[in-house]
Amino acid sequence: MKKSKLIGTLYIVSAPSGTGKTSLVNALVRDTNHLKLSISHTTRNPRPKEIDGYNYHFISEDKFKQMESAGVFMESANVFGNHYGTSQDTVQKMLDDGHDVVLEIDWQGAEQIKHRFPQAISIFILPPSIQALRDRLENRGQDSKEVIETRMTKAIAELKHYHKADFLVVNDDFEEALKSLKAIVKSNRMTTSKQQIINQRLIRNLIN
Ligand code: 5GP
Repeated sequence: MKKSKLIGTLYIVSAPSGTGKTSLVNALVRDTNHLKLSISHTTRNPRPKEIDGYNYHFISEDKFKQMESAGVFMESANVFGNHYGTSQDTVQKMLDDGHDVVLEIDWQGAEQIKHRFPQAISIFILPPSIQALRDRLENRGQDSKEVIETRMTKAIAELKHYHKADFLVVNDDFEEALKSLKAIVKSNRMTTSKQQIINQRLIRNLIN
């Protein structure tokens, strides 16, 4: 992926499960015309109601390894025993088409992207409290106490990576958190360097 071709902005949203990250990102993408969500590849099994090609591209381990060694992924990580990866070509195409792209990925992927594309904007979502995180994980389904405790431990381990992100958003009130995400995207869109591209013709007409 060539840096010079990055017209659109790459956003990275990370957070432990139980913070409401997916719902927030989906609402952000729904409400923002120029923003597209990258659909990851994963080796994990689909959950009930998940659709192949919509939530994820669900693929086998063999296929994942094949794609990984062919250099298909711009980042990839093993998250809790499953492989996840972001397709470089798909993201590049969306950026070239003038869209901003959001990657909903874990902190390991976020680090890889930031390393390769320092201009990418990373956002970390925090829960309002440990109890809220626990409540959200417990309310999710019929998981055993043991599973919940494992998830809590993993969530807390992930939380410790918050400080590497450019922006922090606390998801206490969903609408407020969504507003904050929109404000981040909007303000980035209004920077002079972006406006020079978006309003190229207007600026040319005004100046010349
Ligand atoms: P889940 O399996 O619950 O949908 O996701 C588990 C974790 O993997 C979440 O933190 C999610 O953000 C992360 N994830 C999803 N897709 C990708 C990806 O393409 N790359 C990386 N590094 N993490 C991903």
